[in-house]
This record gives sequence, C-alpha cells and structure tokens, in this order.
Amino acid sequence: MRIPSGTARRLILAFAGLLSIFAISSWFALASLRDIQGGLAEIKEREEGVRLALTLASAVRDQYAHQAHTIILGNETHLPFYTEAEKRVVELTEAVKARVRRPDERAWVVEIERATLELDRIFRQRIVPAVLRKQAEDVMEEHGRAQLVVTQIQERTDRLVDRFETSIGDIQGQVRDVQRAAFRWTLFFLAGAPLLAVGVGLSIYRSVARPVARLGEGAARVAAGDLDARIQVDSPDEFGALARQFNAMTSSLKDQQERLVQSEKLAGIGRLAAGVAHEINNPLAVILGYAKLLQRKAEGDLAGDLGIIQDEALRAQEIVEGLLDLSRPLASAPEPVDLKELCEEAVSRLRSTDRLAGAAVEVQGTASVDGHPQKLRQVVLNLIKNGAEAAGADGRVEVAVSQSADGGAEVVVSDSGAGLPAEASDKLFEPFFTTKPTGTGLGLAVSLGIVQAHGGTLLADSPAGRGARFTVRLPATPPGKV
Ligand code: ADP
Repeated sequence: MRIPSGTARRLILAFAGLLSIFAISSWFALASLRDIQGGLAEIKEREEGVRLALTLASAVRDQYAHQAHTIILGNETHLPFYTEAEKRVVELTEAVKARVRRPDERAWVVEIERATLELDRIFRQRIVPAVLRKQAEDVMEEHGRAQLVVTQIQERTDRLVDRFETSIGDIQGQVRDVQRAAFRWTLFFLAGAPLLAVGVGLSIYRSVARPVARLGEGAARVAAGDLDARIQVDSPDEFGALARQFNAMTSSLKDQQERLVQSEKLAGIGRLAAGVAHEINNPLAVILGYAKLLQRKAEGDLAGDLGIIQDEALRAQEIVEGLLDLSRPLASAPEPVDLKELCEEAVSRLRSTDRLAGAAVEVQGTASVDGHPQKLRQVVLNLIKNGAEAAGADGRVEVAVSQSADGGAEVVVSDSGAGLPAEASDKLFEPFFTTKPTGTGLGLAVSLGIVQAHGGTLLADSPAGRGARFTVRLPATPPGKV
C-alpha cells in the first residue's frame, strides 16, 4: 500500500491518535470493571466460606450435643438425631472444602474430615456400647476423648474463618485500589482528550487552514494585478510545494509580462520609426550633402559651424538607424555562428573606427550557436563599445565566450569601469535611456530585442568593486523562425 505523504499523513496520524486514546481508555475502563467484578465475586465466595465454616462449627457442637444426650439418657433413643447431625457435619465439611484455595486451608479441612470420622468412631464404637453396658467410667473416659476431638475441630474451623476474613479484607483493599486507579485514569482521559482534540485542531488549522488561506490571499493579490505577491508557506508538505510553484508561476508571469511590455514598446517605437525614418533619411542625406559641399567653400567660423551641422546630421542618422533596427524583423534563416570570430570582428571594427576610447579589449574562449551573425555582431559591438566607453583610456574590457552543456552559449562582457549607474537599475534596457551627453540610449534596447528574438536572455550586473558585466545567454538554436 502506498503511504500517503504530508498533510494526508498528518491527518491520518491525528485521527489515529484520537481513536487510540479512545480505544485505550475504553479498554482500561473495561479491564478495571472486570477486575472489580472479579474481586466482588471473590469476596462473595469468601463470605460464603465464612458462613459455611461458622455453620460447620455450630453443626459439630450440635453433633457433640446429641452424643451428650445419649450419655444422659443412657439408651439408643437419641441415635437417629445424632445420625442426622453427623450427616450435616459431613455435608458442610464438603461445602467448605469446595471453597478453600490454598494448600494450608486444604490441609485444615482434611484434618476436620479426619477428626469428624474419629469423633463418630469414638461415639459409635466406644461411647454407645459403654452407655448400653452402663460402664460409667468407660463412658467418662471416651467422652473426654470425644471432647478433645471437638475442640480440635473447633480450632480448625476458627482458623478457616480467620483466613477467609483476612482474605476478604485483602480483596477489598485490591478492589479499592483498582477503583482509585480507574477513577484517576478516567479523570486523566477526561481532561486529556479535550486537550488532545484542541492540539489536533490547532495542528490541522496550522497545517491545512492557514496555508490554504495564504494561498487564497496570494491568488487574490495576483488576480488584482500584484505580480510581486509571494506566498510565505515554508512547510515541507504539499502546501509548501504548491506555494513554491505558485511563487515560481507569479515570478515567471511577471517576467513574461515585462518582456511582453518591453517587446510591445520596442515594436511600437519600431512601427513609428519605420513610418518616419524613411522620410527623415532623405532630408538628412540632403542636409549632409549640402553641408559637405558648403564646407569645401567655407572658411573660418563658418567651416566649424558646418562641421557641427554634419556631426549632428550624422547623429540623427545613427538614431534613425537604431530606430529602424528596433522594427526590423530577423528575416533570414539562422546559420551557424562562430561567436569568438564574431566578437573579434566587432572589436576590430570598433578599433578601425576609433570607437574603443583607448581601452584594451581581450576576447577569450570559443563557442558556436545557430543565429543571425549580423544581428549578433551588433549586440556584442554595442556591449563592447559601452564597456570601452565606461573603462576609458587605461581601462580593460574582457569578453568571455563559452559553450553551455545544453549546446547553447554564453558571452560575458565585463569592463573595469565604474559600474552601472544607480539610476539605471530598472531603466537600462529602455529605449532612449542614456547617461552619456551624446548617447542615443538605443544600444541596449536594440541588443535586448535581438537576444530575445534569438530566444536568449541579456542580463546586467555590477559585481562589487568591479565594473559592469553584461551576460548574453543564447540557446543552441533560435525558437521557430526569428
Ligand atoms: P548609450 O550607450 O547610447 O547611452 P545604451 O543603451 O547602450 O545607450 O546604454 C544605456 C545606458 O546604460 C548608458 O548611457 C549607460 O548609462 C549605461 N551603460 C551601458 N553600458 C554600461 C557599462 N558598461 N558601464 C556603465 N554603464 C553602462
């Protein structure tokens, strides 16, 4: 049979405990009743023994009295009465014998039997013939012997009476002890059973009702939209497991909701950008063309001003490109990507366009996944560029590429800069969040969009005492057609 676990087992144990108490107390009460009843029956038996022993003593005296009458009358006329009395003595001796228990008591009864036979023998064989012969002296002598035997019988019956009475006292004492013990235990069970029931009730409340109430509260909070709701049930039973699953479900729900919001945000911006980018690109190209044309002819301050116009137009173009990146789907089919090679390409591209701000960059490890090389290159390019900008002229950027056991890969970009700014904690990946004077705030938003489209994750942290660290995790192959 399968042993039920957790709450079911506790409930079974609690009810089994209560039932056992009930069974033990009932068994104890029945056993006490049986002992008391047995004791009372024994007392009755012994009282009957006392009565019989006293009656026997009186019957022996009666028998002896009939012997005396025969001596006084000097003939056989009283013999039938004597025979009657003697028969009664024999019957009573049998009845007493049936009630003795111990060996010494049995020996006393045997002595009474023998003495009764002796008494009868003396009377019938000695006294009656001597009476009929009128030999007074013989009669006196035999009478004296008979008297001694009677005294012996009386002494034995007295002993039996004493013994019966003593054992009656003992049994009464035992019965009283059983009664007292039964009373004490009954009181104990009377007080203990309600206490145990309260304990069982409390334990059921704690292990069933309270966790259910907490689960209910948590579910209500989640239903009201609070995805930070967590249920505090730490018990190792089903409720604890349910609470842990509920908490995991809420956190994954929150995660998914945030991703959904983020990708909706990106998609919204992308749709808007796609609508205007094309229109802006053309005038920007015209502005850039004319600015360059004019700069060739211009001199002095005007040349500088035209240079600024070109720079700003280029920055505007960069922003438009970034916005378009947010909206562009990953159309082509995924292909094997060598991530180490990809990172090295990104580094040399940044170096050739002088965008490493003088920082030293090192790429370590190897890994490959299926993906979109151009898009993934853009991700590592953004991360390495940010790292280099944060690390500065004498700083370092480390890129660690590694293959995961499940066939996926990890790219960790860490730098020796000042770490992530405090205000960036929850806005880092939002479009247009930037702390740089000439930043666009699109690099991380675009990178996150690309990584998520590959079915991966992009996490940022700042290990204490070190710079920032960005971790890209990619699955072996992107989900579906990305
Ligand atoms: P931009 O680089 O144009 O500012 P990003 O989206 O790439 O846009 O970065 C957004 C912001 O995130 C940055 O302005 C900066 O505040 C912060 N950030 C990104 N990378 C790092 C880094 N390696 N160290 C410190 N802060 C960083």
